[in-house]
Amino acid sequence: MESSTHVALLSSPGMGHLFPSLELATRLSTHHHLTVTVFLVPSHSSSAENKVIAAAEAADLFTVVELPPADMSDVTESSVVGRLAITMRRHVPAFRSAVSALTSLPSVLIADIFATESFAVADEFHMAKYVFVASNAWFLALTVYAQVWDKQIVGQYVDQKEPLQIPGCEPVRPCDVIDPLLDRTQPQYFEIVKVGMDIASSDGVLVNTWDDLQGRTLASFSDRNLLGRIMKPPVYSIGPIVRQSSSKKGGSSELFNWLSKQPNESVIYVSFGSGGTLSFEQMTEVAHGLEMSGQRFVWVVRAPTVRSDGAYFTTGDGSEEQSESKFLPEGFLERTSEVGFVVSMWADQTAVLGSPAVGGFFTHGGWNSALEGITNGVPMVVWPLYAEQRLNATMLAEEVRVAVRPKELPTKVVIGREEIAVMVRKIMAEEDEEGKAIRAKAKELQRSAEKASVEGGSSYDNFAKVVKLFGKSV
Ligand code: UDP
Ligand code: UDP
Repeated sequence: MESSTHVALLSSPGMGHLFPSLELATRLSTHHHLTVTVFLVPSHSSSAENKVIAAAEAADLFTVVELPPADMSDVTESSVVGRLAITMRRHVPAFRSAVSALTSLPSVLIADIFATESFAVADEFHMAKYVFVASNAWFLALTVYAQVWDKQIVGQYVDQKEPLQIPGCEPVRPCDVIDPLLDRTQPQYFEIVKVGMDIASSDGVLVNTWDDLQGRTLASFSDRNLLGRIMKPPVYSIGPIVRQSSSKKGGSSELFNWLSKQPNESVIYVSFGSGGTLSFEQMTEVAHGLEMSGQRFVWVVRAPTVRSDGAYFTTGDGSEEQSESKFLPEGFLERTSEVGFVVSMWADQTAVLGSPAVGGFFTHGGWNSALEGITNGVPMVVWPLYAEQRLNATMLAEEVRVAVRPKELPTKVVIGREEIAVMVRKIMAEEDEEGKAIRAKAKELQRSAEKASVEGGSSYDNFAKVVKLFGKSV
């Protein structure tokens, strides 16, 4: 029997990278019968992550190799992207050893965007080099084009008076540039510009979007007069790659029991991703806003953080005990006990969104969350916090129009309870033109995503095309 193509996948730490990498690996092995080895860099900072890795190992659809920790004791860099880039750089030797220890060498390496320095190992072992961008095409365009802005634009991008241009794409408002590009003097700025260059030197790029959603941006990559000038490798839109809802798993818990008793599409699910947190003041306003909206809700609550550098972020997501009543408004839990369900730290998000009771999503707009919202056909309140979330929010709320967003950035000001209540009501209850249009658009986008993914759809075809190319790299 002919042995199947062996693909290696390398994922950087963090749930937003781990989940899509594991889902991609699942599809490569189950739908396309490839032999897959996933190399992981665990952060060892959350029980949720430990469980996900253990579940992937137990499912036995592919081999999971956890790389040993690298010494980071001398690293003073504190930015998320800066640390991530250094972490992955320091893991290159461990990755090299792990690859050389395999009995059969992979012919293809798929690295996530923070793992592109492993391409040196791919070259040594004659592997084809692909990048998996677990975000969308607009983010990819910006990341790749940053190397041009770097030479053309004088001063900080955030201080520019006009929107920043990317050939063939929507211009980017200065306030929407991704976090690592906000300050051009910082190490993470140079790291992300380099990531863009590394992506452009790969053999191909897989991006978690689909043609119908971002046709114009995707077309720009293949046009030599537009982004194709910088980006030589082909870009394959293969999304949405999202985890299938694991409703069976969650089925017996108190939360799913409660959800099963709520009317269809009556509950808004509130969650700020694997790392998002709010300030104490903001949390108070969200609580009152939810209460004032009169809508049912499920809220994944994390202890508030003190704002230091404008980012509300925690890397712990499920290990520590917390007592919600300490930081939620007095009496809130009692007053809302009939209509609300507060979950501590972490929920099985795809299962919650897949519940028929859930009809809206209050999200930080991480791309995995956005796709999970879209594939479940729910309208969103989008509340950008960090990374590329301002860009995602602009796309979802102002262009695609499946979401509403606060008038100002929630990282700049505290958004008041009245505005929150209005946004929640708008997507859940309002029978005005706008409310109806947003809900209708959410259903339309869900169908568009489904269409792309089934046989004959653009992402289905692109996926098959890539797998065929993998076969030729042997
Ligand atoms: N997630 C989850 N439960 C939570 C919070 C997050 O299952 O309580 C999952 C979510 O479904 C998504 C991922 O963690 O798949 C977060 O990725 P995303 O890109 O949305 O945001 P990030 O956490 O990377 O900012
Ligand atoms: N859009 C965006 N960023 C993207 C891709 C799309 O803001 O990366 C918006 C775009 O402005 C348009 C809509 O989403 O309103 C549909 O996108 P498409 O790329 O298909 O643009 P079109 O072909 O409609 O100009």
